[in-house]
Amino acid sequence: MNADLLRSYLEFYQDLGIRTLYRQVAPQAGTTLAPVALEAPPLPPMVPSNDSLLQILEDIGDCRRCRLHEGRTQIVFGVGNEHSPLVFVGEGPGADEDAQGIPFVGRAGQLLTQMIENTAKKEGIPLQREDVYICNVVKCRPPGNRTPEPDEMEVCGQFLYRQLMTINPKAICALGGTAARALTGHKEGVTKLRGKWLKWKDIPVMVTYHPSYLLRAYNQSAKREAWEDLKRLLHFVYD
Ligand code: SF4
Repeated sequence: MNADLLRSYLEFYQDLGIRTLYRQVAPQAGTTLAPVALEAPPLPPMVPSNDSLLQILEDIGDCRRCRLHEGRTQIVFGVGNEHSPLVFVGEGPGADEDAQGIPFVGRAGQLLTQMIENTAKKEGIPLQREDVYICNVVKCRPPGNRTPEPDEMEVCGQFLYRQLMTINPKAICALGGTAARALTGHKEGVTKLRGKWLKWKDIPVMVTYHPSYLLRAYNQSAKREAWEDLKRLLHFVYD
């Protein structure tokens, strides 16, 4: 872990009011854990007791923990039902999302809404977009819509981790390869991972295509596959 990333972690924990971290050490007589004053890489993330989406939002504040803050208009935290059994996770905000502060509101977002609502309707499941929760791995728009860097995803992923722990859904939908990698650690591309059940902690994760990929005309067969993935996901969560 490089020094910048370690510093980001430590600032994150200081912001949470955590002043002492513990790291595993070789057992010595009578001890298994040694307290270390903010010097060990804290993985996996610690979550404050009684965490809530409001608390996470407060802790994010005017976040500058990674370089993505430089080009953003605003932080795009997440939207929807915080008690939803289903959470959609994308990669990061685009231009429309950055302007409005809401995830998935541009063309890709409209397609996602259609996919959720039309599939649900066809399958006889009463479900609207506002019934699910939608967020991204990183909360600030990467410049030129580039893929977020691993260190950016790792720093901002702490907030996603807390969002998912707080909502504790029955299933998660990873939209695209970047979200799939960030959630599950699997390195294969989305075409290999889609349609499969993976895991984030103990929660099943269905990987499917990012809607912006489906907007490209040459990806029409992928659209059919994404609809199939969504159908399986909705039946798993709502049957
Ligand atoms: S992307 Fe996340 S960690 Fe980076 S500045 Fe934005 S809110 Fe903070």
